[in-house]
Amino acid sequence: MTVSVALFTQDLRLHDNPVLHAARAAADEVVPLFVLDPDVAAAGFAAPNRLAFLADCLHDLDASLRQAGGRLVLRRGPAAEEAARLAHEVGAVSVHVAAGVSGFAHHREAALRKALGDLLHVHDGSLTVLAPGAVTPVGKDHYAVFTPYHRAWQQAPRRTPHGAPRTLRTPAGPRSEPLPTGVRPDSPGLPPGGESAARRVWKHWDSDSYLDRHDALAADGTSRLSPYLHFGCLSANEVAHLAEARGGEGAEAFVRQLVWRDFHHQVLAARPHAARDDYRTRDDRWRHDEQEIEAWRQGRTGFPVVDAGMRQLAHEGWMHNRARLLTACFLTKTLYQDWRIGARHFLSLLVDGDVANNQLNWQWVAGTGTDTRPNRVLSPLVQADRFDPDGAYVRRWVPELADVPGRAVHRPWTLPSPPPGYPAPIVDPADVSVRLRRARGLD
Ligand code: FAD
Repeated sequence: MTVSVALFTQDLRLHDNPVLHAARAAADEVVPLFVLDPDVAAAGFAAPNRLAFLADCLHDLDASLRQAGGRLVLRRGPAAEEAARLAHEVGAVSVHVAAGVSGFAHHREAALRKALGDLLHVHDGSLTVLAPGAVTPVGKDHYAVFTPYHRAWQQAPRRTPHGAPRTLRTPAGPRSEPLPTGVRPDSPGLPPGGESAARRVWKHWDSDSYLDRHDALAADGTSRLSPYLHFGCLSANEVAHLAEARGGEGAEAFVRQLVWRDFHHQVLAARPHAARDDYRTRDDRWRHDEQEIEAWRQGRTGFPVVDAGMRQLAHEGWMHNRARLLTACFLTKTLYQDWRIGARHFLSLLVDGDVANNQLNWQWVAGTGTDTRPNRVLSPLVQADRFDPDGAYVRRWVPELADVPGRAVHRPWTLPSPPPGYPAPIVDPADVSVRLRRARGLD
């Protein structure tokens, strides 16, 4: 009887899982392994919201594996050491893992290679629809601009999704540590984790209205699949195929967002240091005002739409994309504070917090990344009028303003009497769009 090991990382699913597929093809029996690696916490990625979501994912994965006849083996320790120990215990003929894009994933892969040598098989096309490097401009190692990447992406061949295995044989021997329980998230409104939840979310989400509603803050019309894609409860490749099969303008617009995800992943894979360093520096000499930063973190800037976004983040561990854009823009371009501070705060709470998507979107907003218009400023007032025209999003998240009717809620400083408990704006509302130009010496 031959045995292989499927090392799960950001691919916590049975459907369309190239690692599991290859491990099954390689041997009679498969040990599905997940390692709770202390290096993840040491690297600062182990936020309570994501740990709580991960616990759900592991329980759900174990339940699905058991239904197919297997089970999940959980170990704690450095991933490479634990994988090598288990491979030795069961006499594995091969160990399979998905390719990652972050510096952390590259290190883990190098450590696995050192510990396992030729036993290790690394599989592309698990994390993203197209693997980083699958399409490149002539003479370059990655695309730095989205539109040509999108065009190339649309022309590229894609992998047909694998189904979920119906049966799986796992040897009885290897011990598992108990799966994590009782992990307390920071955010009370966190969604449930796991592949079953992911498939339910996808099934019930109406993609037809996505094109019209994806930017409307109060409509909540986006898929909310991001945490499931981050943990790989749903394969990006499969969901792109499913969306294309649904068809329509909404599904097309949704697939375009998945291309943005692939785009940021291929940038990070080629430039791992962009997780920390400016991708295209503007030689910014950021201000540092701890009081302003704290007001931003707490959702007490006095700009209601900014505060609503920050409070949604604290409550749900998730924020609407339009709110992420305008809150990040407010920190970096109105307050002119370093994007890394904002990115760190987001990563400490976002249940979908992801090095590729978070750091590179922050850089895009700050104008140090791939935006071709690095000095554009999203005024919170213009954004509020456009994407929350009757103020419902603000009233939902900022209770101090719940009684202010209509769009007046976006400018409480103009009301005859200021709403009790709500702060005055921390910068002059007339200046929100000009501060960056002054700071960057453009005027
Ligand atoms: P939908 O609109 O339904 O989109 C479907 C999927 O496409 C998303 O689940 C996501 O995987 C992907 N996607 C959508 N927009 C983007 C984008 N701009 N860049 C990359 N992928 C995208 N997304 C994360 O997954 N993790 C993060 O840590 C993260 N941090 C962000 C920080 C900032 C400052 C900004 C502006 C955006 C960030 N995003 C991040 C991107 C985007 O806001 C979220 O993916 C989206 O809001 C998730 O909601 P949804 O699943 O309903 O998205």
